[in-house]
Amino acid sequence: MTIECDVLVVGGGPAGLSAALTLVKKGDSSVIVLEKKNSCGSTRPRYDITEADKETKRIFETLGLNPLKRTRTSEWFFPDKEFMMESEVEDFYFLRGNKTGSIENFLTRNLEASGVKILSKVEIKRIKMMDKKIEKIQVSYNGTNTEIKPSFVVASDGTFSLLREKLNVKKKILARFKGVGILMEAKGENAIPNSRVYFDSNIAPGGYIYVGSVKRDVFFCLVVDYDLIKEKKNRLVSNLELFLDCEYKKLLDRWKFKNYFGGVGISGTLEVIHGNIVLTGGAALLHDPLLGYGLNYAIQSGYYAGLGICNGDLGIYDNFVKQISEDFKEKYFLRDALKKKGNGSLDILVEYLKQQ
Ligand SMILES: Cc1cc2nc3c(=O)[nH]c(=O)nc-3n(C[C@H](O)[C@H](O)[C@H](O)COP(=O)(O)OP(=O)(O)OC[C@H]3O[C@@H](n4cnc5c(N)ncnc54)[C@H](O)[C@@H]3O)c2cc1C
Repeated sequence: MTIECDVLVVGGGPAGLSAALTLVKKGDSSVIVLEKKNSCGSTRPRYDITEADKETKRIFETLGLNPLKRTRTSEWFFPDKEFMMESEVEDFYFLRGNKTGSIENFLTRNLEASGVKILSKVEIKRIKMMDKKIEKIQVSYNGTNTEIKPSFVVASDGTFSLLREKLNVKKKILARFKGVGILMEAKGENAIPNSRVYFDSNIAPGGYIYVGSVKRDVFFCLVVDYDLIKEKKNRLVSNLELFLDCEYKKLLDRWKFKNYFGGVGISGTLEVIHGNIVLTGGAALLHDPLLGYGLNYAIQSGYYAGLGICNGDLGIYDNFVKQISEDFKEKYFLRDALKKKGNGSLDILVEYLKQQ
């Protein structure tokens, strides 16, 4: 069977689904989304806290994405100092995964209501290129081979993008993170009112631990610099447990374990437009090099990629990514400071945070 469409979105994460929703909201493109898993979003729920400035908030609103919680205040803990930060750039809390209330679930429902086909459990078998453009993609879906002929392809297949590798896109990797987290249920609501970030170079080398809560759910996530821990595979979970034991022991018997989650994020630079292919979100390595935020960039990049395709002007998307890359430059410097042990390097970070 051969299907033709205006835009084929590969990957049903926040980037791909935001691109698809923008395309149907702003234009009349025929859109197909391919997802390799059973559903868009993992069966293991987690919460992401992401930053949202004025423009990001506008995009969230345009797509109808309401956070479960937002705060202006966050608490920062360093080995010998702590401070509360009030910022215009708010923290937005979103549920991730395939459950009701998650970002993936919300976007999927809206897309299906708009008639967008979301094909899950799809495997890409072959990509046929013509004049540096994708002419067709052969997939296995429901046990049959299907051929899709798109005018545009949005590559939103995450950090380890298959499309990016198949197209041999040159990339420059500048920071890599590994995160493990734990989701618990507390007896009462809003056990941790503001997001908290802890720096401890022994427990979280080159990274930090972030903590937050939404209603009765409480989550802790240890984020470390991948290069600093790659030799010690099992250390992360035990480090997270050690942190909980030191900082939250008294409260732990009042919380019920729900699940662990984890993954890897990569920050770097690459050309995001190749012929009729546009790379977005994790596939475009759009992760904040300092704090690992990626959800905001995934949604924004999906939005601008969709807008660029609708308007027949991919420069809109290219400019957005160039701006982000500019913003990241100072953060790469801060990240290098954070990787060095000692409080002196943290002072640089504290100064930076105070200016926000
Ligand atoms: C443990 C952890 C905690 C994080 N916490 C935060 C946080 O608190 N705040 C924040 O802002 N960011 C956070 N991030 C980063 C954020 O999750 C990512 O930036 C974001 O998910 C990227 O969205 P995406 O749509 O580009 O990719 P993904 O969310 O990875 O989605 C990609 C989708 O593509 C699908 N796919 C992959 N390959 C194929 C294929 N070949 N064919 C079809 N489908 C395919 C996948 O199954 C998946 O559904 C965290 C990341 C991790 C790992």
